[in-house]
Amino acid sequence: MLYNQILVRFGDLTLKGKNQKEFLRKLYELMALKMKGLNVEIENTHDRIYIHLNDVPAEEVVKRLEYVSGISSYSFVVKCSNDLKDIKTTALELMKEIANKDITFKVETRRANKNYPLHSMEVTKQIAGYVLANHKLLHVDVHHPEVTLHLELKGNSCYLYNTEVRAMGGYPVGVAGKGLLMLSGGIDSPVAGYLAMKQGVEVECIHFESTPLTSIESAQKVIDLVKIMARYAPKNKINLHMVPFKELHMALLDNVPESYNITIMRRMMYRIASKLAEKKDCLCIINGESVGQVASQTLRSMNTINSVTSIPVLRPLCTYDKLDIIAISKKMECYDISIKPFEDCCTVYVPKAPATAPRIEKCETFEKAFDYEKLVNEAVEHTNSITIDVDSDIDLSLLGLEVREVVAELKK
Ligand code: ATP
Ligand code: MG
Repeated sequence: MLYNQILVRFGDLTLKGKNQKEFLRKLYELMALKMKGLNVEIENTHDRIYIHLNDVPAEEVVKRLEYVSGISSYSFVVKCSNDLKDIKTTALELMKEIANKDITFKVETRRANKNYPLHSMEVTKQIAGYVLANHKLLHVDVHHPEVTLHLELKGNSCYLYNTEVRAMGGYPVGVAGKGLLMLSGGIDSPVAGYLAMKQGVEVECIHFESTPLTSIESAQKVIDLVKIMARYAPKNKINLHMVPFKELHMALLDNVPESYNITIMRRMMYRIASKLAEKKDCLCIINGESVGQVASQTLRSMNTINSVTSIPVLRPLCTYDKLDIIAISKKMECYDISIKPFEDCCTVYVPKAPATAPRIEKCETFEKAFDYEKLVNEAVEHTNSITIDVDSDIDLSLLGLEVREVVAELKK
């Protein structure tokens, strides 16, 4: 391939006025981190970033660009000098590579270098004329061409490209502060985490684990998911907080009527998450709830559950349908892990008729039946925190989790 650079654009960032400098610094840092180990050079200009490939395969670079939030699009480019003869030869060579059958094309020129002796139209005319004369398979169509050959004149150089690929978009992860992601082993919450990171929010993860009521594999799933999510994280790592939830889980089964079990369980999760968020300087909670998906996600349920906290709760998936969520999950490479059939605390015990319109007053009455505050505080206190990076191999015994069978009676 003729391409020797990748041109990276960051559309949305240009809107950010005086924060722009900080955004660009973060974006550059993020790109440099994700490209680590590859023999590429990253050139930072005020409105673009260029990656000099230095013979590194473009696919490898592109794969890593997918992990950088804040990039709006990229193009494979050939850079040559701004000498007209040089541009002609390069344009022809590139078109020969692109077109080996009859196709329509046009040339479009942008002139950032206003001192260039020819106007854009003149450059377009000369280059298109030369390419047409020397490549018999090409025909001009200025309205609906199959290929548009872009020429950008900048400084003493000319950049040529014919494709623009959309990238992750959003903002460099971290610029919006930090949030605490409620991570289950399911499909939704990693996707919610991805969307939050895409919007610039760095995440720490909280998982409520009920081993040995639930299997050890469900905890392993969560670790595997965090490892994948770490690909998008600022330092290629994410903190995971494993909250021992078994005692609360048991207390709920003993003290709360079946139909309110899930509602109150989720109120407990929100209470614990809020406390931990404060401890870890997280400015919001993020979760994978989506309106109407299950009983605990009706608007009435959300009200009753959300009323235990005043910290903002972001629900990036609240209006997404399942197919959209699955598409992102697959793109992230989380899907195959998420669908592994191990139970977590929400699935090990599912009431036959969960309340879809639970009332706050009723919850408060049921919660008086046991000393939940003590259990909530203990759960926070005994939370096990680990840092998971993209390459880590976590031994579950480090988390103090015991390998035991799921308790059979609970599933009756
Ligand atoms: P998911 O696919 O993410 O498991 P879900 O559709 O199964 O979501 P629920 O089980 O009702 O929905 O959970 C809603 C959200 O609550 C999850 O997306 C997640 O953010 C959070 N959550 C559920 N269980 C846990 C858990 N064990 N630990 C941490 N967060 C959890
Ligand atoms: Mg779930």
